[in-house]
Amino acid sequence: MKPVDSSGMQETETAGFETRAIHSGRDFIGDTGTVSPPVWLTSTFEYGNPNGFDYTRSGNPNFVLLDRTVASLEGARFCTSFGSGVSAITAVVSTLSQGDTVVAEENIYGCTFRLFAQVFAKFGVTVKYLDFTDPGSLESLAEINPTLVWIESPTNPNLKVIDIAAVSEAAHSVGAPVLVDNTFAGSYLQKPLELGADLSLLSLTKYTNGHSDALAGAVCTNSEEWQEKMIFAQKALGLQPSPMDCWLIHRGAKTQAIRMERHCENALGFAKFLESDTEAVEVRYPFLPSHPQYELAQKQMRGGSGIVTVDFGKRLEETLRLVEGLQYFPKAESLGGVESLCCHPASMTHASVPKETREAVGITDSLVRFSVGIETLDDLIGDVKQALGK
Ligand SMILES: *Cc1c(COP(=O)(O)O)cnc(C)c1O
Repeated sequence: MKPVDSSGMQETETAGFETRAIHSGRDFIGDTGTVSPPVWLTSTFEYGNPNGFDYTRSGNPNFVLLDRTVASLEGARFCTSFGSGVSAITAVVSTLSQGDTVVAEENIYGCTFRLFAQVFAKFGVTVKYLDFTDPGSLESLAEINPTLVWIESPTNPNLKVIDIAAVSEAAHSVGAPVLVDNTFAGSYLQKPLELGADLSLLSLTKYTNGHSDALAGAVCTNSEEWQEKMIFAQKALGLQPSPMDCWLIHRGAKTQAIRMERHCENALGFAKFLESDTEAVEVRYPFLPSHPQYELAQKQMRGGSGIVTVDFGKRLEETLRLVEGLQYFPKAESLGGVESLCCHPASMTHASVPKETREAVGITDSLVRFSVGIETLDDLIGDVKQALGK
């Protein structure tokens, strides 16, 4: 078995995304000739093995296969995987100290918000929220002097597109590193590190896995210093993934490119239908020309991804009835799987946020978020038509 290369870089780096998704880590499988890797179900390793594995909390061959693949797909030197996207977020936030200030996008993922507000606030980490689609927010960075800048693009559920290159440049000019939560676009559509970010965080649970059957998260970086901090956090905080979940996600990643192509095609068709053939008040999708950051999205992303957010302009009960009437969109949290899902943020993901606060950031009772899967597009459109007709 080939020992882990500590440089992180692999020989296959010049191959295309699809090739790397399928072949990364193959040289690590060993000399049995197996084409599909095993699941290394072991909690501990015999002392003195050539790869230096000691205990699965701090490393396992299935982590290595996944880390190498995700690093390669993100165009990163290093990747560390964690038990979930939230564990990855915890790992990064745990590097901060009392008195540090984070500047974050105001439409940040709900669990990140909760972690800052209900856990890390107790340890003296302050967060200032800004609207990063407002150019004035970049000017205020110098005054705030943050330890870390935390953005997401596209955001959840409003699908705001943030200029990663511009934010990185502004943050670096005041000495702050930038983290991008790349979950909504995923590695195939957007490469935060190439755009200047220092850390790209993924909930691998979503598009990387694509099959809604496992959880993991990852932090990718080109910085050795950040990589050391992530390895430390994995081990010291017990944030490691499970070998089985790594195996499933490593398999899921092999089809990420073709899945994403279909997610993008379906979501764009679905968004166009909602915009032109229904009475929806607003349809948000980064690759719709009516999207406020349409041009930036075209520049920064390879496709619009699979999420479409729509404001049907209906009352709460009518909106809920519409959502309940759908056949191919089970009402569920999460996104990025081959199957379509729908979410009513006001009563689900953002139910704990007071109504006024929710509405101030555009999360109205009539807002519905669709995770458009890779089914036959006509069936998805037909489903919404029948539910609207009820
Ligand atoms: C789902 C999600 C996470 C958290 O990931 P888990 O794997 O569910 O812990 C983080 N960020 C974004 C944008 C997400 O959608």
